[in-house]
Amino acid sequence: MDTAKCPACGCRNFYVKNPEDEFEIHVFTCENGEVCFDEEINESASPPPPIEDETETFCNSCAWHDRFQKVKIEFK
Ligand SMILES: [Zn+2]
Repeated sequence: MDTAKCPACGCRNFYVKNPEDEFEIHVFTCENGEVCFDEEINESASPPPPIEDETETFCNSCAWHDRFQKVKIEFK
């Protein structure tokens, strides 16, 4: 089991914004390259959007954000 970490601060929680409502976020971790949404952290009631390599991904604890592809690269 390996979990992707933020390249800036090492936090393991990331989030993406809902493409239809940027104030709605979906928190997830990336374990062994698999996206795992944390339903307990998520405030949103709507289903999470699909996360692709190009999806803008934000760190849950610092200002880092980049394409999801970067998160996967960090995970080794
Ligand atoms: Zn961070």
